[in-house]
Amino acid sequence: MRDKLKFIGEIMRGSRAHFAVAAAAVAVGTLFSYLIPLIVRFTIDTVIGGEGATGAVADSFSPELSPATLAWLRDRLWLCGLAMVGCAALQGGFDYLRARSASVASETMAFNLRNRLFDHIGRLGFQTLNTLDTGDLIQRGTSDLQTIRQFLESQLVEVTRVLIMVAAALPIMLLLSPPMTAVSTAVLPVVLIGSIYYFFRVSHHYQAMAESEAAMSNVLQENLTGIRTVQAFCREPYECEKFGLANLTYRERMRDMMRIVSTYWGFSAFLCMGQICLVLVVGAWWASRGLLTIGTLAAFLTYVGMLVWPIRQLGHALSEAGRANVALNRIQAVLHKPEEQNPANPLRPPIRGGIEFRNVSFAYEPGYPALKDLSFTVEPGQTVAILGRTGSGKSTLVNLLPRLLDYASGSIRIDGVELNRIEREWIRSHIGVVLQEPFLYSKTIRENIALGDPRAHRSPGRIEPGAEAKRRMMEVVKIADIHRTIENTFHEGYETMLGERGVTLSGGQRQRLAIARALIKDPAILILDDSLSAVDAETDRRIQGALRQRRGCTTTFIISHRLSTLARADLVLVLQHGHLVQQGTHSQLIREPGLYQRIYQIQNQLEADLQREMAD
Ligand code: ATP
Ligand code: MG
Repeated sequence: MRDKLKFIGEIMRGSRAHFAVAAAAVAVGTLFSYLIPLIVRFTIDTVIGGEGATGAVADSFSPELSPATLAWLRDRLWLCGLAMVGCAALQGGFDYLRARSASVASETMAFNLRNRLFDHIGRLGFQTLNTLDTGDLIQRGTSDLQTIRQFLESQLVEVTRVLIMVAAALPIMLLLSPPMTAVSTAVLPVVLIGSIYYFFRVSHHYQAMAESEAAMSNVLQENLTGIRTVQAFCREPYECEKFGLANLTYRERMRDMMRIVSTYWGFSAFLCMGQICLVLVVGAWWASRGLLTIGTLAAFLTYVGMLVWPIRQLGHALSEAGRANVALNRIQAVLHKPEEQNPANPLRPPIRGGIEFRNVSFAYEPGYPALKDLSFTVEPGQTVAILGRTGSGKSTLVNLLPRLLDYASGSIRIDGVELNRIEREWIRSHIGVVLQEPFLYSKTIRENIALGDPRAHRSPGRIEPGAEAKRRMMEVVKIADIHRTIENTFHEGYETMLGERGVTLSGGQRQRLAIARALIKDPAILILDDSLSAVDAETDRRIQGALRQRRGCTTTFIISHRLSTLARADLVLVLQHGHLVQQGTHSQLIREPGLYQRIYQIQNQLEADLQREMAD
């Protein structure tokens, strides 16, 4: 609880003054609203009825006025009306101030929290992100955050208003008539207990509702992202049914919630009306026996109306607090997920590209290592090809280098420095990665490539193409062999807008764009994770040729099954079930019995068969 209050205090930083103004405006506005019944009573009893003058019912709210003053006032009754209108206007003014300050304060809070959440998600580790559902995260960042914002905007101030109203009304009522006060508040404890019960029920239901809404968002998000797969496999009916089910669950949870809400509203409305009726009946009876003036009865009726509805509103505020509490828990659960940590005194050594693995192991899940006891050495500028069956750990191995994954045991040294002692951002700025499934933004081709260029001047959403940046871009698009494609295929050339995740490009075009993006930062280490799988052999040859010309300045890891790639590498690593089973050059490995030799023989055999068939 303390942790939560501290957290709320933190996210309200910058908006506390506005909240204070809102609370003060509520307090003053409420006091003005309390003056109105007193003016009504004074007008009825003293001015019209002349009670104050005769002293029949003397109390601290009936000022002793001389008969002359009373007569003067009686001739100018509009003055009493004006006083009431004045109080109402002031109350309205303060209400405006409250609404404005509360909305500014809650918007500021939501703005801070949204930024904080987004910032945190951006810093989560690769593995943590793998465990989170996108739809659920979106739900937490939008709907849950909105629930907290609404609570702070309306309910926090509302609670202040109720407390002030009760605190101000009770003494006035007690001074007017203690027995009548007892009658006026007889039912209120029941309403209060009902509100607290309601709070616990609503919290429970809101949790279920938020979870089912998140599940529905997930199905929606997954379907929108994978709409092409859904259509290609004619899975629309199945997916519609799946979404329908999630939607139905959400509706049921929502209905459960609404049932509780309506029960509470109905029951509390009955109690509140009952309370007013009680005051009316008992008050009228006492007034008829001369125990109460009509003015006091009118004042009590107004006060009880002012009291019961806000107290009933308190139940609503409590239910909103329950919802906000659940929403806050859901947001905090994300914020408590560990961010990627840098070592205590991170190093920023010069990176030349020398790499040494010593007995490195890595497991996604404890007890199931994806890499086991890997040891090899790469000199700066060398090209390393990695070969292995699907699932053998190739992507896992290369993802260790930019510290997307952190190795559990053993040692990886980059130019003699232990990798996990190097600052993450530093090592990542020296490694160009083309992931197995490259992600492109729905921006222009130019912006997608320049995204990798740390020297390009950029503001959010815009990258300024300077002459030097253009030269660098030309250089890399030529190496990635995509310049001609861009010029010839797209009318708008480099300014062509890509669809979401680059869907308007072919698989090979996407891969080459991603290679250009990785190369533009001039990395000391380049990782191509199966990045030429979707390009034809001719283009592959040209790209590899251009990359070889850069040899000596970039250590390159290429995951590939093409013999032409493997044959030209300085070092070939062969992985099997996470073990490094063979390493060496192509000429060494074809002479060594093992997986490499077998693949070589199979590919040669296939080629020979093909040539024989063509000759026949
Ligand atoms: P491919 O040639 O198909 O790309 P790969 O050699 O790159 O295969 P990896 O992606 O490194 O294989 O996966 C190695 C093993 O780790 C596989 O058994 C895979 O199921 C597992 N694995 C990969 N990613 C994760 C993950 N995020 N969480 C848990 N296990 C994973
Ligand atoms: Mg892979």
